Amino acid sequence: MQYKSTRDDSINVSASQAILKGLAPGGGLFVPESVPELGITLSELSGMDYKQTAYEVMKLFLTDFTEEELRGCIERAYDSKFDTDVIAPLVKAGGAYYLELFHGKTIAFKDMALSILPHLLTTSAKKNGIKDEIVILTATSGDTGKAALAGFADVPGTRILVFYPKGGVSPVQELQMVTQKGGNVRVVGVNGNFDDCQSAVKRIFEDESFASFMKEKGFVFSSANSINIGRLVPQIVYYVYAVAQLFKEGYIEEGDKVNITVLTGNFGNILAAYYAKRMGLPIGKLICASNENKVLFDFFESGVYDRNREFILTTSPSMDILISSNLERLIYHIAGDDAKKTAELMTSLKTGGKYEITADMKARLEDFTGEYASMEETGAKIKSLYEDTGYIIDTHTAVAGFAYDKYVKETGDKTKTVIASTASPYKFMKSVLTAIDPSYAGKADLDLADDLSKLSGVDIPAAISEIRDAKVLHDRVYDKEKLDEAVRDFLS
Ligand SMILES: *Cc1c(COP(=O)(O)O)cnc(C)c1O
Repeated sequence: MQYKSTRDDSINVSASQAILKGLAPGGGLFVPESVPELGITLSELSGMDYKQTAYEVMKLFLTDFTEEELRGCIERAYDSKFDTDVIAPLVKAGGAYYLELFHGKTIAFKDMALSILPHLLTTSAKKNGIKDEIVILTATSGDTGKAALAGFADVPGTRILVFYPKGGVSPVQELQMVTQKGGNVRVVGVNGNFDDCQSAVKRIFEDESFASFMKEKGFVFSSANSINIGRLVPQIVYYVYAVAQLFKEGYIEEGDKVNITVLTGNFGNILAAYYAKRMGLPIGKLICASNENKVLFDFFESGVYDRNREFILTTSPSMDILISSNLERLIYHIAGDDAKKTAELMTSLKTGGKYEITADMKARLEDFTGEYASMEETGAKIKSLYEDTGYIIDTHTAVAGFAYDKYVKETGDKTKTVIASTASPYKFMKSVLTAIDPSYAGKADLDLADDLSKLSGVDIPAAISEIRDAKVLHDRVYDKEKLDEAVRDFLS
């Protein structure tokens, strides 16, 4: 399997090279030259545990890894760092199946991919004879940062620098990051929003003077952002696993379809579901849920992607995004794997902040439907699900939950549905608890852990108890125009 660039047909690299580079030269994203067939039945899959499923899926994409290398990466990733052997449990509640993707070290779904990425990356470096130290440069809207820090901390041959929007992440998210230990880590607050952080990372990656500075010093950049196929491929695994579990439990039969609802920020998670469907997994609709930054909802409605709008800070901060980077891969595929067309649209996004797809392309979006939830609707979903079932979900999952309810109301579609549950309610305690009872508003976020534990019957996860009295180790803040300097400072 070779990987091509969404913007340049002449590029052709192996999986390990695509993982190492992160972003293709010229700013495109790597895409598989074709989508492989799953080639295994639900009945066979239903007898496999998470790690076996991961191997079956990932081997189809990472074809230049040996079996030993790939199994080694999987073993080291999905171990006791997760608080359940199942890795990604399915919980039936309120007429849907919540796929809990938050049982890793940082209690958000980013752990699913970032637990394995460092191993894929260091294995790729070895395979390609790379001796330079790998520098991970990452922009985060909250959850990627900590998950990447936890994954890379003290991994030999790597360093990691994380940019987060100062004031644009939750107090728990910020504390998780600024208390990160490790000799190879740095966390920087940015006076700007997530898009400013992400644009700076892209710019630095493409900057040639930076490239020569890096070479001189014996460093090479890579990315832990969801644009890296080393993040995307491991995310396909849990959709395959979830559908196999539904089959195993007798909720679906051979021939049935499953809808998937994913709350979407950078479009990585839902894109993985799209690939799973194209591999032959019996998926029906892909319901793309947005918060009030509903640029994707509008895109699915109109075929126009327009980022020229107010940026809204919501109670689901990990989705406060106006440029969904991974959408570029979908654009490329619906254009018929046309790099020239994709490059043209991405140029108009860069210069004018918007683009419009053709009628042919729009017709190929029929698998998708967009929905969105306001902050009020998000809170109402948390409250009603809790009151009806006792199950407590976080604000991000609640956006998806509300979007799913709305979809069912509009269409009457009764297909069994998996909702990606992307964060533990412990990560957004204040928003979650005040949705249930406004009288929690007076308490500080971290002081609410005991209340949430009592209400939900779920023990306080280690990720929260650890930061309650940890020391702040990172307090640097840079202006958004000065992020080049932040990188040079870190590497000098
Ligand atoms: C990152 C994140 C999302 C968005 O996922 P994308 O892959 O960027 O679409 C949603 N919810 C939570 C909790 C996240 O951390």
